[in-house]
Amino acid sequence: MKNVPVNLKAKKLNDMIIENDSRLENQNDLYDEEIGDNHIGDAYNTPMRPDAFDISDDEKIKKISVHFEQIMNILGLDLKDDSLKGTPKRVAKMYVKEIFRGLDPKEKPSIALFENKYQYKEMLVERDIILYSTCEHHFVPIIGKAHVAYIPNGKVIGLSKINRLVQYYAQRPQVQERLNNQIGEALKEALNTQHVAVVIEAQHLCVAVRGVKDVHSSTVTAFYSGKFKEENTRNEFLNFSKK
Ligand SMILES: [Zn+2]
Repeated sequence: MKNVPVNLKAKKLNDMIIENDSRLENQNDLYDEEIGDNHIGDAYNTPMRPDAFDISDDEKIKKISVHFEQIMNILGLDLKDDSLKGTPKRVAKMYVKEIFRGLDPKEKPSIALFENKYQYKEMLVERDIILYSTCEHHFVPIIGKAHVAYIPNGKVIGLSKINRLVQYYAQRPQVQERLNNQIGEALKEALNTQHVAVVIEAQHLCVAVRGVKDVHSSTVTAFYSGKFKEENTRNEFLNFSKK
């Protein structure tokens, strides 16, 4: 066998191992903390490996269980205990089938458009869409609400579809800015209109339970396109989205 450098070998998802990872020891520790605490780095697309779906969900669950068991073992937990022994499998299933399900493009909700029979040309607002996501820097929950608005371009969307689109992008490791942009762009495409606004207000548990332990702050991000870039349209929306 050819002498392949370790980092190249690790590029195959199937070969991934958690030992000998020099990232754990090098001096980038401080830099990594900084990125996490300030939530820097939000490319529009979720950074995915090209081979992300080369293995099945069931295989992913098996592999994650093995690695999560190692994490628990390293922490010194006794996996023979009845309460703990099922945890690795439960966590693995939850990751793949629930909280990170939106990584798989097959899960993207298909959106049917309806003719806008009433010739309704004003703004449509759906507010207080509950949102559960996961901070990609700390893997703890982000809990919040999204307020969405659009001005129809001949067609309208079923309101529950907006919720499903929000949930789809939330079910990934995320940073709030990217989540906000992904929902905005997806709505523009689905509705075939430029006039879309999305505001997200969310609490990041990584800020509440660790680091600065601030339980009161929340983060607000916004996406405005088309007419929502104009001040009066935007203000109309912001007034609607207030309680
Ligand atoms: Zn975080």
